Amino acid sequence: MAIDDFNLNLNREICYLCGTSFSGEINRDHVPPQQLYADLIRENHNPNLLTLPVHKNCNSSYQFDEDYFAVTLMPLGLGSYSGNAFYSEKLSKFKQNKKVGLIRKILGEFEPRPSGLYLPNDKVLKRFDGVRLGRISWKIVRGLYFYHFKEFLPEGIKKNIRIVSPGEKPPPEFSDIINDPIRGQYPGVFDYRFTDSLSHNFHYWALLLWGRIILIIDFQYPACECNICVAPWVSM
Ligand SMILES: [Zn+2]
Ligand SMILES: [Zn+2]
Repeated sequence: MAIDDFNLNLNREICYLCGTSFSGEINRDHVPPQQLYADLIRENHNPNLLTLPVHKNCNSSYQFDEDYFAVTLMPLGLGSYSGNAFYSEKLSKFKQNKKVGLIRKILGEFEPRPSGLYLPNDKVLKRFDGVRLGRISWKIVRGLYFYHFKEFLPEGIKKNIRIVSPGEKPPPEFSDIINDPIRGQYPGVFDYRFTDSLSHNFHYWALLLWGRIILIIDFQYPACECNICVAPWVSM
């Protein structure tokens, strides 16, 4: 189904964020967050973005974490066309208005010399608020999963989330999905691949932001109760 058909199909019965049916105010949520696309990209390339209907209240509950997600990852996006555009627009918006608190917080996440250690090649460590970063990474996967499989993924299930910075080597199992099709509507800003063909309901997703940052999310769903999956937890 083309994105347009999907976007026009308003008969989605449930909100992918909470899994319940619609009542009250509904709005359309961009998957991934629309703010990852710089205005310049939207104006010049008019990317066709995926939206899903959600409860307005569910949507709002993610707003602060989405702002954090975009800004905390922004420095790692530098170096690509879309990442540079995003960075410079965000910075000029900060200069105009008052999100000073957020930018100060992000700057505080850089540690040029963690514990007095000098890192080679002027490397700088960046810390992340893992809970907020993870919450939005997972929200994106939940939205895309809902789009592809028409199935609700709960917020609270167990998952592993990793960031691969530009220039860093992805983990070895990443090569297993390198031949899966790319799925992004505008891959220069956001792209993704996934596989659900692995055993025991194991899902492996890789998101690519601004062509620079890879987020890897893996999870098992539904939880598998076969001997292989259950056995490690059995005490001997
Ligand atoms: Zn909802
Ligand atoms: Zn299993």
